[in-house]
Amino acid sequence: ARAFPLTRPLGMDQLPRQNHLKAKRKPFQLNVMVVGESGLGKSTFMNTLFNTDLNDTSVPRVPQDTKTVDITPVHFELEEEGVKLNLCLIDTPGFGDRLNRKEDVQPILEYIDKQYAAYYNAERSSEFRRGIIDTRVHACLYFISPTGHSLKDLDIETLKELSSQVTVIPVIAKGDTMTEEEKVLFKKMILEDLEYHKIPIYPSAYPDDDRDDMQETLQHVPFAVMGSDSLVDLPNGQQVRGRAYRWGTVEVENPAHCDMIHLRELLIIQCLHELSDLSHHHHYHGYRTSLLRKDGR
Ligand code: GDP
Ligand code: MG
Repeated sequence: ARAFPLTRPLGMDQLPRQNHLKAKRKPFQLNVMVVGESGLGKSTFMNTLFNTDLNDTSVPRVPQDTKTVDITPVHFELEEEGVKLNLCLIDTPGFGDRLNRKEDVQPILEYIDKQYAAYYNAERSSEFRRGIIDTRVHACLYFISPTGHSLKDLDIETLKELSSQVTVIPVIAKGDTMTEEEKVLFKKMILEDLEYHKIPIYPSAYPDDDRDDMQETLQHVPFAVMGSDSLVDLPNGQQVRGRAYRWGTVEVENPAHCDMIHLRELLIIQCLHELSDLSHHHHYHGYRTSLLRKDGR
C-alpha cells in the first residue's frame, strides 16, 4: 500500500482523542467491513468513503463487478501531517442471491473468526514482542435497504450473529433515494426495531461517558450513506462527487444531502481508538474466553 492523494484533507491531524506523538511513530490501524444484501451499493460506497482522487489510477479500488464473490480486503495507507493510518476495507459478497440465504452469511462469520484466531496464535508466539499486525474487524457497517419498512427477517438474523462477534454500525444504503422526511421516519423505525430485537449496535450498546464532543455526529445515527463513481459539475462551476439526477445533484460530501461526512468523522477521527479498543477488550476477549472454555482449561 502507498499513501494516496485525497481531494480534501480528512482532518486526521486533529485526532482529538489520540496521543499525537505516539501516532507519529506508529501508524493507526482500522479495519472496516461492509455487509448487506447484494446491490445495496457496498462496493461503490467503499470507493467513495474516503474521497480518493478518481483520476489517480494508482489508488487501489474495490472491484465493482455486479456481484462481489470473495471477501476482499483492500489496504490503504493514509497520511496527513505525519499521522499515519493503515486502513483496511473489507468488501463481502452481498447475500440474498442464493436460495439458501442464511448460508451466505457463514463465510463472513468465518472470516471474522479467522482474524481472532490469527491474533490469538500470534499472541502466543514470539511475534508478540515485535508487534502483531491486527487484522481483526474493528467495525462492521451493516447496509439496510432503503425500503421505508421494518427490518427483514434476514437482516435481523444476520445482525444478531454479526453483533455477537463484532461491533456493528448499521447504515441506510442509497440515502439519495429517500426524502428527508422519509429518512427521519425510517431512522426512527430502524432504531426501534433494533431495540425490540435486542440487537447491540454501536454506539448505543457500548456506553462511554467520553462522547460529549460527538453529540453532533451521533444525532445522525443510523447514518444514511451513498456512493458514487463520478464527479458532477455543479452550476457554480465546482466539481463534486455525487449522483446527478435530472432535477439536480445529490452530493456525497454535503451534510445536507447525506451522512457520509459524519460517518467518516466517526470512523477515523472520533472513534478510531474506541473501535479498536472494543474489538480487543470486548469481542476478542469474548472469543478467547470461549476458546479456553472449550478446551476445558
Ligand atoms: P453491492 O452489491 O452492494 O456491492 O452494490 P454495488 O456497489 O455493486 O452497486 C449496485 C448498484 O447500485 C450499481 O448500479 C451502483 O451504481 C448503484 N449504487 C451504488 N451506490 C448507490 C447509491 O448510493 N445510490 C444509488 N441510487 N445507487 C447506488
Ligand atoms: Mg459488491
